[in-house]
Amino acid sequence: MATETTTSAGAAPALLDFTRFYNIINGKLTTTAKTRHSINPSTLEANPEVPVSTEADVDRAVDAARKAYSTWRRTSYAERRAALEAYADGIAANVEGLATMLTREQGRPLALTRMEVATTAERLKETAALELPDEVIADDKDSGGQTVVKRYTPLGVACGIVPWNFPVGLAALKLSAAVLTGNTFIMKPSPFTPCANLKMVELAQQFFPPGVIQCLSGDDSLGPWLTEHPGIDKVSFTGSVATGKRIMQSCSKTLKRVTLELGGNDAAIVFPDVKDVAATAATLAQACFFNTSQICIAVKRVYVHASIYAAFRAAFVAAANGFVYGDGLLSTDPAPFMGPLTTEMQYNHVQTLLDDVRATKLAIVRGTDGRDPLATATDTAAAGKGYFVRPVVVDNPPDTARVVAEEAFGPIVPLLQWTDEEDVIRRANDTRLGLGASVWSADLAHAAEVARRLEAGNVWVNTHMMSHPSAPFGGHKWSGIGVEGGIDGLKQYCDIQVLYLAN
Ligand code: NAD
Repeated sequence: MATETTTSAGAAPALLDFTRFYNIINGKLTTTAKTRHSINPSTLEANPEVPVSTEADVDRAVDAARKAYSTWRRTSYAERRAALEAYADGIAANVEGLATMLTREQGRPLALTRMEVATTAERLKETAALELPDEVIADDKDSGGQTVVKRYTPLGVACGIVPWNFPVGLAALKLSAAVLTGNTFIMKPSPFTPCANLKMVELAQQFFPPGVIQCLSGDDSLGPWLTEHPGIDKVSFTGSVATGKRIMQSCSKTLKRVTLELGGNDAAIVFPDVKDVAATAATLAQACFFNTSQICIAVKRVYVHASIYAAFRAAFVAAANGFVYGDGLLSTDPAPFMGPLTTEMQYNHVQTLLDDVRATKLAIVRGTDGRDPLATATDTAAAGKGYFVRPVVVDNPPDTARVVAEEAFGPIVPLLQWTDEEDVIRRANDTRLGLGASVWSADLAHAAEVARRLEAGNVWVNTHMMSHPSAPFGGHKWSGIGVEGGIDGLKQYCDIQVLYLAN
């Protein structure tokens, strides 16, 4: 039997309670008859119970979103901006609680989940500061007595389908662009990381009218119910290529607008003239193994010029072996940099890649302590529990090896040698994916030339993974359709309307 509790709209940002979790439908905390839980990937203990939504819950949320849309779309941009700014303050006031929850369900060490939540609060403010004014394309003087104005009108009800790797930050990107442009929004968290997402939407009820921002948690049936629903106008999805294709197919039936932020297989090309080989290797190791390599724009293939390969490899492996890993909620000294893989499925996927490395007899670079990098962690405070995998560096495998050709989404990284510039550009581009890439060289002009030839939505020189609040983020080729972030990200939640105003 479902129950509903009213939330405290209008009160000062309260600290969230992380013991009970609800769907948020029409401003109310709502329970479901059935519940489920995710698993703490560090300890394999159960996380708190969360709702399992039914199709009737989806209908109720969509009805509430449609009703709320009829008034929310008419609020002023300034009013929506103010609500978003206040919400950002609410998130900032709850960094500790949200980050702790995130570590329990996602696995990333606490210092790094704190960073995700704090950055989310900043990004919400930065998004709120964006402008999307009407544009006068022609005024009556130069168009025969007619003024032509381009406007951006909201789409209606938007749905954000969120993955488990950066659930708070990625959900906030979708939510903020949707509601700032006058849409209402329904969030669907990943079943692996529902708790922080449910709480961030519970918090939003203090700043937005009922029905403007809602959240439904559930099992594998929930996503398809949402993408099929005729009352939803837009789906913004972040996740795997395979699911992205299914979502596009499902959305086509009702011509929903779709944004897809999908997987990547980012290449880094290291030139022989980098200023400091060891420092570059250490920086790239971070870009490979941060979040236990579960980042769409983690570096996943490192092409190193043959003349510096040996020195680079030594420094890269030293850095990788130096990363402390373990349960991110335990206060070890030093604190861990890497947590476990977030899901059993991901852990098993990485094991199949490791099996492939063994079966095809690819060379693995061992740390100086000679420990077996293919073994799972047994020397952490987690005492053998959890989905831990040590960083594994594969030494110059062929480009056809699975670990090069596929997105591992786990800490198994190939170092590859190159000698010919044209050839390495071809190799970097030889993938269906095109999310990110980077070029590392002291010759900035030449590096920028190479960068322009890489087929990816984000290309960096002498850095990787950097982002900017005004910059759009999206993938080329099979890495996605559309963008998030910046003004272009706002436009993804709008139709264009052209007004022709004759005298
Ligand atoms: P996933 O595709 O398995 O799931 C993502 C979300 O989609 C989850 O909420 C899931 O429940 C939902 N879902 C699954 N099947 C669905 C269906 N048929 N209809 C509707 N919803 C459905 O992805 P994941 O494993 O959670 O995330 C990892 C992937 O996401 C990696 O490939 C990674 O590169 C990618 N990713 C991309 C970006 C980006 O911005 N481009 C960012 C983060 C992650």
